Amino acid sequence: MSRIDLREKVLNENDRIAGELRERFARKNALVLNFISSPGAGKTALLEQTLRWFPKKLKAATLTGDIETENDAERIAPYGFPVKQITTGGACHLDARMVERGLDELGADEYDVLFIENIGNLVCPSSFDLGEEAKIVLLSVTEGDDKPFKYPSTFVRADLLIINKIDLAPYVDFDMMKARKAARKVNPNIEILELSCKTGDGIKEWVHWIQKKVHLKRKAIAS
Ligand code: MG
Ligand code: ZN
Repeated sequence: MSRIDLREKVLNENDRIAGELRERFARKNALVLNFISSPGAGKTALLEQTLRWFPKKLKAATLTGDIETENDAERIAPYGFPVKQITTGGACHLDARMVERGLDELGADEYDVLFIENIGNLVCPSSFDLGEEAKIVLLSVTEGDDKPFKYPSTFVRADLLIINKIDLAPYVDFDMMKARKAARKVNPNIEILELSCKTGDGIKEWVHWIQKKVHLKRKAIAS
């Protein structure tokens, strides 16, 4: 089998399992969000802030991916919501099978919102459907403002771009307008939020974004 055939086979199998996951999430009415970014853009920090300010009426759960360590789950656990670390043992992305296994080990079956922190990598995670409702790409101002052009396959599949670490903007050469324009050029429908997990600026708007998504989902089911 050629490399291309093999890749095709892997992705087809992944899509099949992701389809089952999607049905499983639909039965629960759960909103599932898949977070993708380079290493160090602040996915775990964002989850910490999100869980800290998470709406009291909703239940959250988290699956967090890492190549080797359990550090992220340890950071997230104190916020009091179920969390399970998925260690990929070398793989540079999460696949649907890992999420399926992670859910079985999560030991919590009731959640309104499931957060999935993918492996820090802007290249391949976006090719693997995890049964999520939306992909969220994080970009921090310490990275290049041209990242949407460098990794279009990720930005084109994302519903929301979160630009993090805006507190550092005065100290770095990140052009906010340029980054926003690049993202919209690659994906005209992408929504964009700016925030800082350090100062908390923009977190309220982000939590509101989640609430709005949950609300729209319930409305769609009711009608
Ligand atoms: Mg992390
Ligand atoms: Zn990969």
